[in-house]
Amino acid sequence: MTTVSWSGEPGTSRGPGPFLSVRDLSVEFSTEDGVVHAVDGLSFDLEKGTTLGIVGESGSGKSVTNLAILGLHDPAHTQIGGEIWLEDRELITADRATMEKLRGDRVAMIFQDPLTALSPFHTIGRQIGEVYRKHRGASKKEARDRAVEMLRRVGIPQPEVRVDHYPHEFSGGMRQRAMIAMALVCDPDLLIADEPTTALDVTVQAQILDLLKDLQQQFGTSIILITHDLGVVANTADDVLVMYAGRAAERGTVREVLREPRHPYTWGLLSSMPRLNSSVDVPLKPVRGTPPSLLNPPSGCPFHPRCDYPRLAGPELCFGQRPDVSPETGHGDACYLTLEQKRELRTTQASDQTEAQIDARTEDGA
Ligand code: SF4
Repeated sequence: MTTVSWSGEPGTSRGPGPFLSVRDLSVEFSTEDGVVHAVDGLSFDLEKGTTLGIVGESGSGKSVTNLAILGLHDPAHTQIGGEIWLEDRELITADRATMEKLRGDRVAMIFQDPLTALSPFHTIGRQIGEVYRKHRGASKKEARDRAVEMLRRVGIPQPEVRVDHYPHEFSGGMRQRAMIAMALVCDPDLLIADEPTTALDVTVQAQILDLLKDLQQQFGTSIILITHDLGVVANTADDVLVMYAGRAAERGTVREVLREPRHPYTWGLLSSMPRLNSSVDVPLKPVRGTPPSLLNPPSGCPFHPRCDYPRLAGPELCFGQRPDVSPETGHGDACYLTLEQKRELRTTQASDQTEAQIDARTEDGA
């Protein structure tokens, strides 16, 4: 993951940089109870043809961030700050017509639940074809032919027949494939997939993730994959961004973050995940406590109410100053512990886990 800086006013062109670059993004909602700080100072890059997995619990700001990229927040109740660059175009200051042109054409989204995202009143073919007609000015026949081609591309059997079926005539996995076909109909440069496999059973999940990988290899699409599942990220993404309370907690390549996680929140996410390669049952250890209210985020490090290590890192820092992921390239995290302390704590955790395995084995043998 690279970080490139540039100079230039919002809304103007910039020099060469990453394909997508989000800089110091903030998203706030005005509610009756006050201002919700849903995203606070978030920066990340996405290179062309790569996949970035964004992980975190519900309410960590993953989906809000991506709705900001798509320009789908209600301007009457939302304040958005920072910059979002898609190549040489700044999106926060872009006008409505520009964003409407971009959505579905250069940038597309796959939603979590295809049943609610697809209209029950129109055939699958019509819904896929409409997007093509709108952005490419295609005739009805061209749009239908394109819908058949897209259904074939995403592995729907008998696409010439299925194109005239309604969503209720498709299984859950086929509906998700149809959603992917609709998202890809204009060959977008950027695909945002929001929990695309959560509503599917495990076998279909694997098929859909393989399909996304294949399509990316064929067409060089850049993908943002929003998920709470680090297993999905491990199998699919090149880079990972771990979000907590609207901020970046850790970022790096999949290998860096999963092999050498540095932030106590990432440790918590990993230890709450079942491991298939464990020879015995090891109890899962969820992150204690609950995510903070974004109406009134905690002072200092937003993770401090759930963290075991503020005393070690320095309470005056953890309770008083917000840590940031360093702006330099590569593996980075927002935690005041030193790298040495992090390594030592991870080693201790690993040996605790081994002890838990030995205990479980002993109990099994008893
Ligand atoms: Fe924990 Fe402090 Fe690190 Fe935050 S900065 S994760 S509170 S040790």
